Amino acid sequence: MRKIVAAAFLMVALLFGGPWLMVKDAEPEETEKPARLSADAEQTKDTPKAQSKTQKKTAKTTADEQVTLRVWNGKKTVEMTMAEYLPGVVRGEMPASFEPEALAAQAVAERTYIYYQMAGGRKDNHPDADICMDHTCCNAWVSEKQARKNWGKNADAYEKKIRQAVQSTDGKVMLYDGAPILAVFHSSSAGVTAGSGDVWVSDLPYLTSVKSPETADNVPNYYSVNTFSADEFRTAFLASHPEAELSGSPENWIGGISRSGSDRVETAEIGGVSVSGTELREIFSLRSTCFTVEVSGGEITFHVTGYGHGVGMSQYGANELASEGKSWQDILHWYYTDVTIADYAG
Ligand SMILES: [Zn+2]
Repeated sequence: MRKIVAAAFLMVALLFGGPWLMVKDAEPEETEKPARLSADAEQTKDTPKAQSKTQKKTAKTTADEQVTLRVWNGKKTVEMTMAEYLPGVVRGEMPASFEPEALAAQAVAERTYIYYQMAGGRKDNHPDADICMDHTCCNAWVSEKQARKNWGKNADAYEKKIRQAVQSTDGKVMLYDGAPILAVFHSSSAGVTAGSGDVWVSDLPYLTSVKSPETADNVPNYYSVNTFSADEFRTAFLASHPEAELSGSPENWIGGISRSGSDRVETAEIGGVSVSGTELREIFSLRSTCFTVEVSGGEITFHVTGYGHGVGMSQYGANELASEGKSWQDILHWYYTDVTIADYAG
């Protein structure tokens, strides 16, 4: 199974330049969102420097404190425990205003994903480090100091929630066939998540399509609209597909659209060229592949629902489930099919 998972990782990496699509897609559209790309290895008052071996042997040492990661901070490789690194990822990937159980689910997904990445070997970007702080490579990572600036008056309460999410799930990871899963997630879905095969090339048994409870009532910018003039559309599409025939009236440019079971666009015919929904999303910077296309008055308009690739846990869905009283375990089992939640340390 490890081989299959590793192959899936490689496949995603090759096709999309890395599964950081997960990271990109997780970016919530909120005013309280921690700034991204603010990652630095800055130690803050509340972030203990690497503990001595003596300290690590005390009875109160947590599982995450016993795992040391070599982390590339963009300048050099530093050693951090999982307990030091993981909160920075949770700060960077989910609004701290979310429900505690959603944040805890996020912490487990992130911890799982870190181990999954490590199982795939070190990346060329940082051959001496297990992981980094760059969301275009590994994970978004935000220091406590930077997060506090963004959180303002809520800083104390939010930092407490982040740390609680990590500590309450200490050492817990999602496993399938005994190995950490590719724990991808996204911001919001249009009622149902996508199976991994709907978006990428292969179906992973734990990344299936499931219902997701978020709606326009609880997700900012749940519906979005992207409108292009005929010239803008033509220029953008031809840059990727110069073979396309985009002349005459734009009413005739867009042909058949096929959809997956989760109602996302699988393929569309544009100027006689068949392209995937995922590629269209990239070309036109759409928030998801769950869209309809309208051609009217010489303009092409995409009506888009949700945000992200749609695979794995929906963050806004997780927040809704948490607000309904679901635990972080419930949330993870909801979005990741047939996984086991267990202690794991690499
Ligand atoms: Zn990296």
